[in-house]
Amino acid sequence: MISEIKDNILIVGAGFAGATIARELADSGRYKVHIIDQRNHIAGNAYDPINEALKLRVHQYGPHIFHTNDQRIFDHLSRFTQWIPYQHKVEAWIDKAGYVPLPINRTTLNTLYHCQLKDEADVKNFLDTLKCHHLAPKNAQEIAENIYGAELTQLFFGRYTQKMWSLKLSELPTEVLARLPVRYDDNPHYFNDAIQAMPAQGYLHLFENMLDHPDISVSLSCTFEKTMEKNYQHIFNSMPIDVYFDEKYGALPYRSIQFVHERLQEHYQPVPTVNFTDEGMYTRQTDWRLYPGCDLGKRSEILITKEIPCSYEDNNFERYYPVKTVAGEPQKIYKRYRGEAEKLNHMTFIGRCGQYIYYDMHQVVANSLKIARNFLVS
Ligand code: UDP
Repeated sequence: MISEIKDNILIVGAGFAGATIARELADSGRYKVHIIDQRNHIAGNAYDPINEALKLRVHQYGPHIFHTNDQRIFDHLSRFTQWIPYQHKVEAWIDKAGYVPLPINRTTLNTLYHCQLKDEADVKNFLDTLKCHHLAPKNAQEIAENIYGAELTQLFFGRYTQKMWSLKLSELPTEVLARLPVRYDDNPHYFNDAIQAMPAQGYLHLFENMLDHPDISVSLSCTFEKTMEKNYQHIFNSMPIDVYFDEKYGALPYRSIQFVHERLQEHYQPVPTVNFTDEGMYTRQTDWRLYPGCDLGKRSEILITKEIPCSYEDNNFERYYPVKTVAGEPQKIYKRYRGEAEKLNHMTFIGRCGQYIYYDMHQVVANSLKIARNFLVS
């Protein structure tokens, strides 16, 4: 019997972008896919191995909560995992006031201002007395001040944004803050999406299933080198696009996060993740027991993880967040790299670092499916 010869594809990075494309191409029956990752694990930044001693599933790169309005993306991922429904809640710790819901809602305002706003109309009237009137708001600060006024904007977003991005709120593009819903009622949830869930057996299990295919091979602790290119018909590359081009137009800015783990005998926080919107160095604190699917039995100690944002150079060149600004300098640099990338017929850049987009998980899966399906019909 003559076996069909399949074209070889290289995928750089075994996170959501790479794994989604790998599976889609392998499922077509036309390609043999080799996926490499410089880390010693698959699942990218969603990697969530079990800490056996503590009986906890811990997201190594910070909490990942799946949410989407796109039923097709959810159905697609449901081929590889079951889910536990989970509507994410966050509270901010505010000095002298304690824990308050975030996004700001009616309870937040009643707690902070010691008032008794009864309904949405009350909340809107109250915010009307605080809000600013920037015509055609151009940045995150003006957008927030037009809703909440200067004091609440600074309290919840100004200092947090400074430490998270090393930018003033006035330098942050509006779409970053638009990730948070605006609430006039008591809804305590962080997202509005119709579908919100955690993979029942964790993200790592989801990735193991996604990559479990006879035409997918995986090499870990394997760094991409340009000499690999000649062995493949096409490369899907999630490495930082500026690094691929040897930063010839300058290094793109990315933010990173250092995770500080503390083992405690006792601890209380009201929700799985608490935000610190003050001037201290931490932005978030996670109690892993509180995430559905993460608490796996009795333990002798509790694990708390705190996040300290930093530049990627200060965190072993781990690039987590592309940094875009109102002035647009990073975007201009990225455009030059994208222009170079478009000349490469044998390579497609994918994912947060390859496309320099602040993607959520569902968005990167949607975009990667589109890329793979376009490739299959090209
Ligand atoms: N943000 C803030 N205060 C908060 C939470 C968020 O100022 O307590 C701003 C901040 O600029 C942050 C952005 O809103 O980077 C988006 O927040 P999100 O929680 O979506 O960030 P991610 O989970 O992606 O780190």
